[in-house]
Amino acid sequence: MNIWLRGVRGSSPTPLTPEAVKSKIAAVIQRAKPSDLSSPESRELFLSRLPDYIFGTTGGNTSCIEARLCEESVVILDCGTGLRELEKSIRKRKDSVKEFHIFFSHFHYDHILGLPYFGMMYDPSVTVHFYSPYPKMEEILRGFMVRPYHPVDFDSFNATIHFHVLKGRRMKIPGGHISWIKRSHPNGSFAYKLEQNGKSFIYSTDTELRQADFNRSPANIEFFENADALVLDAQYTLGEAFEKYDWGHSSYSMAVDFAIEFGISDLYLFHHEPLYDDKKMSSIKRSARWYTHRSKGKPEVNVRLAVEGFEIIL
Ligand SMILES: [Zn+2]
Ligand SMILES: [Zn+2]
Repeated sequence: MNIWLRGVRGSSPTPLTPEAVKSKIAAVIQRAKPSDLSSPESRELFLSRLPDYIFGTTGGNTSCIEARLCEESVVILDCGTGLRELEKSIRKRKDSVKEFHIFFSHFHYDHILGLPYFGMMYDPSVTVHFYSPYPKMEEILRGFMVRPYHPVDFDSFNATIHFHVLKGRRMKIPGGHISWIKRSHPNGSFAYKLEQNGKSFIYSTDTELRQADFNRSPANIEFFENADALVLDAQYTLGEAFEKYDWGHSSYSMAVDFAIEFGISDLYLFHHEPLYDDKKMSSIKRSARWYTHRSKGKPEVNVRLAVEGFEIIL
């Protein structure tokens, strides 16, 4: 399966500021020596050696994941503002996909804000399936798209829409399976696991990890053990996690501990704090990797920052 991170920011969209763009350009110029600029090859090499926080950005769109388990349909996990990037990418690829399976972790703004602007919703040849364990999903989505909050209401969507309230723990989807588990978060939240051909990908945003989540209970083991990739809420530093107890998010160190506990090979720190710029994000990644290395005698986790546009192939 192919997975793309379309929106990785938490809470509110966080565009790159003009000051940030200027400071990135200034930092590049400061580092360049005349020999770096002498040929196309040297320029290429120079750029490839720049730190990610200078020659790149973590991304400012809110939660949205695109997964392809088959040719005919797209699975979407949350509809934050990253949904527009997802649509742009589909149109750029001239992909003629007409079926979308959209799963919601929960309905806080940062996870639904992209939906009114998702062009596929206005295409009568498209079919959209919405899924959530929350029985009030349809009411919530309809209530969110009303005047004066938005110029047109939910019935303006021309796509064929089906609502599915999830029951049980697991279901089949085109190309594979999906399962879900409840997480600790204000108003609740669900993590999802996609499985195909023995590979598994878990999306666990807006999760405040608690002691019970580390218990090796049958439910935790069945869901998390030996997953190939885990996108996990790591909005806070450890200090902030103490200060913001009960705000519904986790620290990067708890995320690392959790991935180690369940033998997860690749961890993507996700739902980035909107106040943090690329340099701060890069320092969080370094600290998380240092923290992983010092967890001696335990299986090592490959820790990455979730970066907008990144593709995970499983
Ligand atoms: Zn959120
Ligand atoms: Zn939330």
